[in-house]
Amino acid sequence: MPEPRRCSQEGCTAAAEWRVFWPGEAPLLACTPHKMHALNLGTAMGVAIHAELLPLDPAALVWTSEMGEISGMGGSYERGLQAMVRAGLAWWDAHPDADPRFKGYENVMGVLLEDNADAKALTQAMMDARTTMDDGREVRCGDEATGAMHRWGVNHIFAIRRLGWSDYVRQMTGRPREQEGA
Ligand SMILES: [Zn+2]
Repeated sequence: MPEPRRCSQEGCTAAAEWRVFWPGEAPLLACTPHKMHALNLGTAMGVAIHAELLPLDPAALVWTSEMGEISGMGGSYERGLQAMVRAGLAWWDAHPDADPRFKGYENVMGVLLEDNADAKALTQAMMDARTTMDDGREVRCGDEATGAMHRWGVNHIFAIRRLGWSDYVRQMTGRPREQEGA
């Protein structure tokens, strides 16, 4: 594993999750708590800037029992969903200029439709992820996934990209598990 990148804020030893751009300067690396600080430095200088999520280490993308589940369904359903989210994030890391757009993204109950080629490619990566069913069969997620899993997966991929992993973990912590002890 490469050495984890560290936040550039003085005195902070946290891992960097964001690269904050200012024109004419080297990008600053920031942890999630220091992201706003790094962005505000730029604002004070009166320049347009943005923050970009650094590539996420797939090995670190682990949903712990404290975080609760994406689906609350447990078993192979939740396992497959997490595999789809990991695969989607890996695809996005490999395509940093991608701009996937979905119709019905804001409509929680609606069907999610890919609206451009990047959305189709992201969906393909999610469907090609491998997972293990409760009976031990290894399957391609797309052969078992429901429309709800796709919608949930896309929603969580966008949330992780917007929040960074550490803030996502914080927001997921304490969500109820429907299958306690399952
Ligand atoms: Zn920091």
